[in-house]
Amino acid sequence: MKLITFLYHGKETVGILTEGGVAALPFPDMNTLIESASFEELRTTLPAAPVIPLEEAVLLAPIPRPRQDVICLGMNYRDHEKEAARYDAGAFSKDKPAAVYFSKRVSEAGRPDGDIPRHAGLTDRLDYEAELAVIIGKTAKNVKAAEAEAYIFGYTVLNDVSARDLQTGHKQWYFGKSLDGFTPMGPCILTADEVSFPPMLEITAAVNGELRQRSNTGLLIHGVGEIIEELSAGMTLLPGTIIATGTPAGVGMGFDPPKFLKAGDVVECTVQGIGTLRNTVR
Ligand code: MG
Repeated sequence: MKLITFLYHGKETVGILTEGGVAALPFPDMNTLIESASFEELRTTLPAAPVIPLEEAVLLAPIPRPRQDVICLGMNYRDHEKEAARYDAGAFSKDKPAAVYFSKRVSEAGRPDGDIPRHAGLTDRLDYEAELAVIIGKTAKNVKAAEAEAYIFGYTVLNDVSARDLQTGHKQWYFGKSLDGFTPMGPCILTADEVSFPPMLEITAAVNGELRQRSNTGLLIHGVGEIIEELSAGMTLLPGTIIATGTPAGVGMGFDPPKFLKAGDVVECTVQGIGTLRNTVR
């Protein structure tokens, strides 16, 4: 199932994409759906759900207001680890094999086909990062990697937009990753029952049609099961938790000279089976 959040006559609605449009579901928002509905229940509800033509729906991020910060992995693909260290050895050299975790504040996740604010005056090194994001489906504490799949609700595409000058200018990455509009997400959540585990999905990013990133989520250094095992050993992961698993090589700072984003650029992040998240820099 592909689940979306959308505006219909100005009202935020959740639904399942169907051939004829989107079947509107009786939940107030995606977080409530995730914590209260099983896949079976969703399928059973489907035949009775009113179908809305897609043209009448304005797509929002599947989880427009995450309840907590997005948990992010840094330098979780080998090729990206190398390009980041080339760009700024001081900020990005990774001298330990341990996973790099950081978080991203998201008051409101950017919608598919929406804008990425440029924050002119604050940054002139705006960059993109196509990532596979994992959505936790049920409370996870002390979950072993082998059992992690059962705790995943689904997957979406996330652009971990970054202000490189702010990211490297401070001791921590938090500010440079957390500006308003820096977390576009979508277009949908693909439920975990439709993805083999661990996910091995092609992931790409293009800017103005030029292919910049191309990899496969099977190449994650720290895989989804391992991440959930490690984090849940120490922190309870609640339903609706979003984990951005890291980005492959080909971000703007990886080029020589770097290719940072400018106003009018169209960024398309795609993960196989989920879809394309398209945003314009304004
Ligand atoms: Mg990232």
